[in-house]
Amino acid sequence: MKNEELRDLRALCAAEAGIDSDVFEFCEDVCSGLYERFSRIDLLAEYNQTKVIQAFRSANVSSACLSGTTGYGYNDLGRDRLEEVYAAAFHAEAALVRPLIACGTHALAIALFGNLRPGDELLSITGKPYDTLEEVIGIRPSAGSLREYGITYREVGLLPGGRFDHEGIRAAIRQETRMVAIQRSKGYADRRTLSVREIGEAVRTVKSVRPDLIVMVDNCYGEFVEEIEPTDVGADMIVGSLIKNPGGGLAPSGGYICGKKECVGRAAYRMTCPGLGAEIGPSLGLNTSLFEGFFLAPVVTAAALKGAIFAANIYERLGFAVNPDSTEERHDIIQAVTLGSAEGVEAFCRGIQRGAPVDSFVTPEPWDMPGYDDPVIMAAGAFVEGSSIELSADGPIRPPYNVYFQGGLTWPSAKFGVMMSLQSMKEAGLVNLHRAC
Ligand SMILES: *Cc1c(COP(=O)(O)O)cnc(C)c1O
Repeated sequence: MKNEELRDLRALCAAEAGIDSDVFEFCEDVCSGLYERFSRIDLLAEYNQTKVIQAFRSANVSSACLSGTTGYGYNDLGRDRLEEVYAAAFHAEAALVRPLIACGTHALAIALFGNLRPGDELLSITGKPYDTLEEVIGIRPSAGSLREYGITYREVGLLPGGRFDHEGIRAAIRQETRMVAIQRSKGYADRRTLSVREIGEAVRTVKSVRPDLIVMVDNCYGEFVEEIEPTDVGADMIVGSLIKNPGGGLAPSGGYICGKKECVGRAAYRMTCPGLGAEIGPSLGLNTSLFEGFFLAPVVTAAALKGAIFAANIYERLGFAVNPDSTEERHDIIQAVTLGSAEGVEAFCRGIQRGAPVDSFVTPEPWDMPGYDDPVIMAAGAFVEGSSIELSADGPIRPPYNVYFQGGLTWPSAKFGVMMSLQSMKEAGLVNLHRAC
């Protein structure tokens, strides 16, 4: 079939989905300028895919690994091999990869509580941490926080322009500092996402002052976006969620902690209990999903990256501030768009929801989510509840009214979702396509 015929078919299909022809044409025009960049993302995915297959091979993953255990989960071959695969792929000594870790925040809490002791200080060198960590740390008072256990917290902000403050970091480290936390992705903050190379420079600065400090990187949304991970540049621990990049959309739940053997071991003692550590924990029949999801993750992440770049280009051309911008190098899969009003955030999210394979008929509304300070609106029509490697958008309802768009298990589905968001913005009278062209 010729390109023009395929384009006509796609236009017809878009029209059936309720996408106006001017929205479709606008999106096609933006898209046609992106294919060269997308081919570089495909090459990155090819490299990361090979890295993952090599990790499977080096861990001798066998068909016996695909069945699981119940109860205590003693001698769960698949669980143990999966952890070897993660460690090998991320060039780390050890890994904890568990479906029973409920989310990224839980994984981060395990890493923190497992490795900090009363009297220790946690130092964030990327400023204010992700919203849900505020209660874990005790920045916002909460029962059972690090603070209640006598673990103190301080932070060094990023410099204007979003770079590490190397001087500030050197000056801030003191006797009781035990761990340094770095958040790779911007999360809900208005800043840059940090590259793995920059993280490496920060690790060098920290280690030049005190080589014994534990550097932990919140790696959420960063996995497979670059050819290296923070463990390649000296981080002692990286932590993330399996319903983001590394679960490849197939992991139904879970989190991981990868890094130095002692750090991961202490985290394991916190995850279950002292003495038992990583020896217990049933995989409950989920090994296949976790292996297969990790196998697919490089390509799924590449699809999400393309979707994010497409969204940046669409909304930048329409005059909205986008972060990262349309041409910037990517270090995570998140695309922030500053919509400037609660109506904008809601219309964008309604469109994303309409473009989803599951719950496309649902209208998302802002609500008070546990762990978050402001009402948050979330659009997600996902196979796995709350999965943000699947097409999703969310944003706290607060100025400057940013929406954070991420995911899409396949590039065409991500593209469709962005087109639907634009259709919804047009229907709400919030964009003018003709002026932008
Ligand atoms: C998603 C995320 C987390 C953890 O969030 P959960 O919803 O608990 O998985 C932590 N930090 C960052 C930067 C994140 O993006």
